[in-house]
Amino acid sequence: MAILAALTIFCLVRTSRSDRDIAPYVSRILFWLLVPIVSNMVIALSDNITVCKFCFTIYFISTTVLLFYFDEFSLEFCNFEVKHSALTKVLLGLVILDSLSLVLNHAFNHVFVLSLVELDGKMAIEFQSKWYHMVHLGISAVLLTVAIVVLSYKIVKTSKLYRGRYVIILLACIITTIWETTHIVINDKIDRSIVGLGICGIFIYLYSIEYQPLALMEEMKKTVLATISDGILFFDDNRDCIYANSAAQLQLGMDMNDTSSGFEKLLALTGEDREESAYYESKMMTCTSLENGHEYIYDIEFHKLHDLQGKLIGSFAKITDTTERTKRENLNRFLATHDKLTGIYNTDRMYDEVRKVLQANPDKEFYIIASDIKEFKLVNDRYGREFADKLLVKIADMLRDKVVSPTTRYGRIGSDKFGVLIEKENYKEETFINAVKEVPNVGRNLVIPIIMHVGAYEIEDKNMPVSAMFDRAFIAIAGVKHEADFKIAYYEDNARDSMLWDQKITEQLDNAILTGQIVPYLQAQVSRDGKVVGAEVLVRWIHPEEGFMPPGRFLSILEKNGMIGKIDQYIWECACRILRRWSFEGRNDLYLSVNISPKDFYMMDVPEIIIGLADKYELDRKRLRLEITETIMMDDVDEKLKTIDKLREAGFIVEMDDFGSGYSSLNMLKDMPVDVLKLDMIFLKDTSQNERTKKIMSLIIDLAKSLDVPVIAEGVETIEQVDFLVEMGCDYFQGYYFARPVSLDEYEKKNLSVS
Ligand code: C2E
Ligand code: CA
Ligand code: CA
Repeated sequence: MAILAALTIFCLVRTSRSDRDIAPYVSRILFWLLVPIVSNMVIALSDNITVCKFCFTIYFISTTVLLFYFDEFSLEFCNFEVKHSALTKVLLGLVILDSLSLVLNHAFNHVFVLSLVELDGKMAIEFQSKWYHMVHLGISAVLLTVAIVVLSYKIVKTSKLYRGRYVIILLACIITTIWETTHIVINDKIDRSIVGLGICGIFIYLYSIEYQPLALMEEMKKTVLATISDGILFFDDNRDCIYANSAAQLQLGMDMNDTSSGFEKLLALTGEDREESAYYESKMMTCTSLENGHEYIYDIEFHKLHDLQGKLIGSFAKITDTTERTKRENLNRFLATHDKLTGIYNTDRMYDEVRKVLQANPDKEFYIIASDIKEFKLVNDRYGREFADKLLVKIADMLRDKVVSPTTRYGRIGSDKFGVLIEKENYKEETFINAVKEVPNVGRNLVIPIIMHVGAYEIEDKNMPVSAMFDRAFIAIAGVKHEADFKIAYYEDNARDSMLWDQKITEQLDNAILTGQIVPYLQAQVSRDGKVVGAEVLVRWIHPEEGFMPPGRFLSILEKNGMIGKIDQYIWECACRILRRWSFEGRNDLYLSVNISPKDFYMMDVPEIIIGLADKYELDRKRLRLEITETIMMDDVDEKLKTIDKLREAGFIVEMDDFGSGYSSLNMLKDMPVDVLKLDMIFLKDTSQNERTKKIMSLIIDLAKSLDVPVIAEGVETIEQVDFLVEMGCDYFQGYYFARPVSLDEYEKKNLSVS
C-alpha cells in the first residue's frame, strides 16, 4: 500500500504539471484515491479502536467522494456537457447524504462496529458491517454505474480510432468493481480492495494524461498524405518507391496502388539519367510535362531521409503542381511589362530592353525612332475611343510585322507614342515612310487624315539615359510638326537649339510686354468696292537681338506652355486703346479685329475680360471684332457655344477664322453662331490649280449667304483671285493684294490721313 501511495503521489505530481484540460479532474481522482489508501494503511497498522473507527469513516467517505469525482471525470473525458446538470446535483446529494450518515456512525453504529478479538494469539480489530453499510455500497454502485454507462455510451458513439482509450478505462473500472465486490463478499479482515482502486486510478492517469494515440496519429498521417494536392513519394535505399500518394500517382501516371514504377516515372518527368540522378541529394527543381496537349509545371523537392543514428534510409520527393500559379505569375509579369491595349512592351520595359541591347552590342550603331500622332486628342474626340484604340493596335501590329531583327525592340511609350530601337544596318527610311503611309487605312474613309510624325535619333552616346534618347527623337518631331509633307525628322543639334529657343521666348515674354517689344500690326480689310472697312490686329515682336519677329516664331511656343493668354490680353488691350483714340478723333467707321487663341478659353474667362476691356475704354462693342478658330469646337462644344453666345449677346461681332483649314465641316457652320465667316487662305493657294477647290469655296460662300453670314476671304494676293471671289459673292477681302500687315503709324498714315 505504501508503494501504491507513492505511485499515486507520483501520478498526482505529474498530473498537476500537465496543461491538459482533463488534468484537474484526474488530480481530484488521484487525491481522493490517496485518502483511502492512507487511511487503509493506518487501519492495517493500528490496533487502537478509536483510531481505526475514525480511519474507516474517512475511508468510506473518501471512496464515495472518489467515485463522485470519477463520474465527473468520465463526463468530462467523454465530452458530455452535463457538468452542472441535474444528474451531477443528484449524485452530489447522494455523496453528502452518505457522508453524513457515515459520520453519524459514531453515535448510532448503524454502518459498522469494531471490536477487539484475539486471532492466532494476537489481538486484532474485527470489522462488523451493519445495515447501512449495504446502503453505502449501493450508493457506490450507483456512482460507479453512472461512469460505466457514460464510458460505454462514448465507446459506442465515437470513431474506432478513439475507442481504445475509453475501453481501457472502462475495463479498469469494471475489473475494479469485480475485485471490490469479491472482497466485500469474502469480507477480508484487511481490505485489499483498495489496491484495485489504486490501479484503476493509475490507468486513468496513464490514459488521460500520458497516452499518445499512436494509431490515431498513424491514421491521420495516412489521410493527410492521401488527400493533400502535392504528390508525395517515398523511396527506400534501393531507390524503390515504397509509397506514392494518390496525387503522385496521378501526376506521374502510375497505376493505382502499384508504386513499383515510381522511380522510373519520376526520372521521366525530371528528364534525368538513372545513373546520374542523385536522389539522395536534397534539392529542388522545376519540370514541365505535356499530357494530352496540356502543359503542366511541377516544382519537385527531394529530401534525404536519415534514421536516428544518422544512417541513410531513403529519400522522399514532393511534387507540387504549380501550373496555375506559374501561369498567373507569367500573366502578371506580362501585364506589368506590356501595354494592355497593344500587347507590345510598355515604356519601362522598352527602356530596359533598349538599355540591354545597347550594352550587349557596344560595337554596333543604332537609331532610336519615335512616332507621334498629330492631334491624337482630336482623333479620339472626333472618331471615338474605339476607333483611336484600333488605330494604336494597328500601329503596334505594323511594328510587329515590319520590325524584325534580333536587336530590334519596339514598344508603346506614351498614349499615342511608339518607340523603336533599330540597328543602323537594318534601318531603311522607306520602310518607315511606307509603313506610316499605311496607318490611316484603319477601315474607314477619313475626312480628317490621320497624320503620324516620325522622328529619328542616331545614338552617339550609348550611356545616355534611354529616356533622353527618346526625348531627342521627339525633339526632332517637334521641328517638323507643321510641315504638310511627310518625312522622317532627324535629330540634329538644331533641334536642341529649338528647345533653347523655346526657353528663351518663354523667359523673355513678360519683359518684352513691359518694354513695348510686343506691338500690334494692322492689316486692312476691304469691301467689294475697294474701301477699307477695318483691320485685323496681328502681333509682332520687335526683339532687341533677333529683330522683327512674326508670330510664327513665338506663338506656337507660348500656346504650348499656356502663356499665349498674356500676349493676347495685351494685344486686345492695345486694340481697345487704338479704337478709343480713333473714337476721340472722330473715326468711328473703322473696326479692329483681334485673334483669340483656342487656348485662351481654357486659361481665362474670355467674355469677362473682353467685356471688361470694352467697358474700360468705353467702346462701341460692334467695333471690336473677335476672330475665333473653329478648332475651339473640338471639345466641350456646349460650353464653347455658350461662350460665343455670351460674346455676341454682349454686342461683339464674332468671326470664324481659318474656316476650311482644319476639321471644319459644313455642318458645323449651321451650328456655330457666328457673324462673319473667314475663309482660310489655303483655298486660294489651291484654286490656282484646282477647279474642285473653287467649287467647294463657292459652295461654302453660298451656304454662308443662305445663313445670312457675310464671308471674308484672307490671303488674297492677285487680281484674278479678287475677280473670282467677287463672282462667287464674297463680301470682304484681306491680303497682300490690298495691304500687308503694317505698324499702327503706317496704317493710320494710309487710312486715316484723309480726316
Ligand atoms: P491669321 O489669323 O490667319 O492671320 C492672317 C495671317 O496671314 C497673318 O500672318 C498675315 O500676315 C498673313 N497674310 C495676310 N495676307 C496674306 C496674303 O495675301 N498672303 C499670305 N501668304 N499671307 C497673308 P501672321 O501675322 O504671320 O500671323 C500668323 C497667325 O498668327 C495668324 O493667322 C494668327 O492665327 C496668329 N496671330 C497673329 N497675331 C495674333 C494674336 O495677337 N493673337 C493670337 N492668338 N494669334 C495671333
Ligand atoms: Ca486671324
Ligand atoms: Ca486666318
